[in-house]
Amino acid sequence: TVLTTIAVATAIAHNAQMKPAIPRDEAIEAKIENTLSKMTLDDKVGQMLELNIDIFGSNKGKGWEMDKAKMDSAIKVWRIGSVLNAPGTRAATVQQWQAWIPYIQKQSMRHLGIPSIYGLDNNHGSTYIQGGTLFPQPINVAASFNTELARTTAEVTAYESRAADCPWVYNPTIDLGRDPRWPRLWESYGEDPVVESRMVEAAIAGYQGSDPNHLGKYNVATSVKHYLAYGAPFSGKDRTPAYVAPQVLREKYFAPFKAAAQAGALTFMANSASVNGVPVHASYEYLTQWLKNDLNWDGMIVTDWADINNLYTREHVAKDKKEAIKIAINAGIDMSMDPYDVDFCTLLKELVNEGQVKMSRIDDAVRRILRVKYRLGLFDTPNTGGKDYAKFGSDDFALKALHAAEESEVLLKNDDGTLPIARGTKILVTGPNANQMRCLDGGWSYTWQGSGAEDLASKYNTIYEALCNKYGRDNVTLEQGVTYNEKGHYWEENTPHIDKAVAAAQGVDVIVACIGENSYTETPGNLTDLTLSKNQRDLVKALAKTGKPIVLILNEGRPRLIADIEPLAKAVVNILLPGNYGADALANLLSGEVNFSAKMPYTYPKEINSLINYDYKVSEEVSTMAGAYDYDAKVTQQWPFGYGLSYTTFTYSHLTIDKTDFEPDDELTVSVDVTNSGRRAGKEAVLLYSSDLVASIVPDCRRLRAFKKIELQPGETKTVTFKLPASDLAFVGQDMKWRLEDGDFVFTTGGQAVKARCTKTKVWNTPNI
Ligand code: BGC
Repeated sequence: TVLTTIAVATAIAHNAQMKPAIPRDEAIEAKIENTLSKMTLDDKVGQMLELNIDIFGSNKGKGWEMDKAKMDSAIKVWRIGSVLNAPGTRAATVQQWQAWIPYIQKQSMRHLGIPSIYGLDNNHGSTYIQGGTLFPQPINVAASFNTELARTTAEVTAYESRAADCPWVYNPTIDLGRDPRWPRLWESYGEDPVVESRMVEAAIAGYQGSDPNHLGKYNVATSVKHYLAYGAPFSGKDRTPAYVAPQVLREKYFAPFKAAAQAGALTFMANSASVNGVPVHASYEYLTQWLKNDLNWDGMIVTDWADINNLYTREHVAKDKKEAIKIAINAGIDMSMDPYDVDFCTLLKELVNEGQVKMSRIDDAVRRILRVKYRLGLFDTPNTGGKDYAKFGSDDFALKALHAAEESEVLLKNDDGTLPIARGTKILVTGPNANQMRCLDGGWSYTWQGSGAEDLASKYNTIYEALCNKYGRDNVTLEQGVTYNEKGHYWEENTPHIDKAVAAAQGVDVIVACIGENSYTETPGNLTDLTLSKNQRDLVKALAKTGKPIVLILNEGRPRLIADIEPLAKAVVNILLPGNYGADALANLLSGEVNFSAKMPYTYPKEINSLINYDYKVSEEVSTMAGAYDYDAKVTQQWPFGYGLSYTTFTYSHLTIDKTDFEPDDELTVSVDVTNSGRRAGKEAVLLYSSDLVASIVPDCRRLRAFKKIELQPGETKTVTFKLPASDLAFVGQDMKWRLEDGDFVFTTGGQAVKARCTKTKVWNTPNI
C-alpha cells in the first residue's frame, strides 16, 4: 500500500535548528544507553506494549480478560513496558491501588530493573480512586479563563494519583472543541487555540512540576491527547474521519499540541481516527515529522485504545494486524495500547527480523519509553504511595475544587434582577439534573455510570441538597418532572410526570429548572440531534405557564439547543460539568454570596444548522457578507464565545497600542483600563482579539490573542497590559508557510478598538514560529 512508504514529504524544510522542546539531560541519556545495551529484541518489543489489567473483572467477555495470572505471564514472557486500567464502573481505594501497582513494579523490575509505567484516566481529578477530589471538567476550567485553575487542578490530581502509586495520567485533552456535536467537547478547553494553549501549559506545570527531566514524588507524566484533530469529526460522531483544511490544521488544531510539547509534555496519545484520509496512527507526517522532528521533541507517543488494530479492521489501510503494526511503528508510534493482546510483540519481532521495521526505529521507540521512566524517577523510586500523602481527599483540596467550580459556572441571562435569589424565597427544584451527582461530574468519574456508583458520591451535594443547605429544607421542594432512566441508554428518560412539577410550582416563588444531559463520553455520547430532549423542553414550557419566574440551570457537556425555551426563562446559568462541589458552588452563586465570573469557552448555537465558531465571518455578531449581492448568510447564535455576565458591571477605556506602525519581529504592548462600575466586587476575564483586515487567505473575522483574569473592587480600575509578539498575528498561507502580511490590524476588547499597521510582509521558512 501507499502507506508502507514511510517518508511523506512535507512542503516545509525540516527545522533542524529548533532547540529541543525538552532540554536534553546527558546523565539520563547515558542511563538510557546503558539499559538499552542490555536489552534483547524480545525485551524491546515488550517495552513497546501496554496492556489493560482488569482487576475488577469489568471487561469480562471482551477477549483478553487479563487476570493476575495472565498478567504475570505477560510480564514474565514479554516484559511488557506498561499497564493501564479501565475499571469502568468501579473505583478502587488508595489501599487497593497501593497493593496493585507496586506488585506490577516488583514483577517488572525483576528483569534488568526496568519498571513498568502505569497509566490512568484521572481526567478531572483522581477519577478512579475512591475518596479522590473531583474537579470541574476541563470545559469549566476553560470557562473560568483563569489558567491558575488549570494548574491547581492538575497539581492536586498529580498528588492524589501518586498517593495511589499511579505515575501517568491520560490528560489533558487538547483537541479543539469546535464542533458541538462531538461527544467529548467537554473534555477539551473549548474552541479557541489560544485558550487551549495557555490552559495546557498551566496544566503541564501542575502535573509535571517545573523540570520535565526530574519529576518529583507529587508529579505525574501527562499524556496530552488526542493528537491531532480528534475533535473535528465530519459526522460529529466520535472517532470518525476529520477533514480539516491543511492551513487550519497547522494554524489552529496543531497549536495547543505545539504548546504542550514546548511546555515539556512527556507523552502524547494519538487520535483514533483519520485526518484528511490518513489515519493519524499511520501518519509519518503528523507523528514523526510535525511532532518529533519539527519540534525536536523527544517524548513518547502512545496509541489510543487498540488503535493499531483499527488500521486493518476499520480504516482499511492494512490487510492484517502485522501490516498495521508495521505502518504504525514506522509512522512513529512508540507504545501500543493493545489492551488485551500480546501478539503485538510476536508480530513486531517478526517485522524486525524480516527487515520491515528497522532496528533503529525500535531503539528510538524504546529510548523514548525509557526516557519517560527515567524522567519520572521510576528506576529509583518505582512506588511513591503509602506515606506523605496526608492531603489526599482533604478539605483543602475540596476547597480548591469548590472555588474552581464557582469560577466556572456561566451566568448567561439575568432579567429583572431575578438573581440573586434572596433567603426565605420558596424554591421548586425540578428537572432530571436536579438531584444526581453523576450529571454534575460528567464522564470519567467514579459516579458516571450510575447504578451503585452514586454511593461513592453520597457525601457530596446534588443541586437539590445544596439549595436545601442554603435556603433551608422547608423552603425547597423537589419535583423532578423528568428523570433519566438509569438502566437504559444514557439519554433514555422515564415517562415524565410534568403535571406533578407544575402542581409543586404553585406554592413557590421561583422555579430552578435543572436540565441538560446525563453523563457520557466517547461513542455512547453520539447524538442525532443537538436539540434538548422534548420531555425537558415540555417541562419548561408547562412550568412557564404557571407565571412563576424560571431560572434555567444548564448542566451539560456541550450546548444542547434550547431556543424555544430560553425566552421563557428569566435567568440562565450554564454550570457545564462542575464536579463534586458544583452544586455547592451554584448555591453560593445563586444566593449572591459569590459573584459570577465565567465566560463561554465555545459558541452556543441557536439552530441546528448554525454550528459555527466565533472566528467565522458569518456569525450574527459579525455578519460581513456585503458584496455583489450583499446576501444574508447570517448564522445566529444563542450566546457567543466569550459571553458571560456578572452581578457587577465592568467598563473598558483607554485601549492603546505602543506601536501604531509595527514590523513582524516587533513585540506589541496593548493596554486597556478596566473599571468595576457596579456595586460589588467581581472578577473579569479580559479577552484581547485581533482582526487582520486584508490578507491573501480569507482572514478570520477575529482571533483571540491573549486573556487575563483580574479582580476588582467596586469603583476600582486596573490597567491590563498584554505583551504580544507581532508574529502571533501570522497565519499559514496558501503555500503552507507562516506569513505576516503588511496592512491594517484592529485590536478589540470590551467594546474598545484600536488600529495598527504592519509595515512589512514576512514569510517564515520554518514549519513553526
Ligand atoms: C479514550 C482515551 C483514554 C483511553 C484509555 C480511550 O477510549 O479515547 O481518551 O485515555 O481510552 O482509557
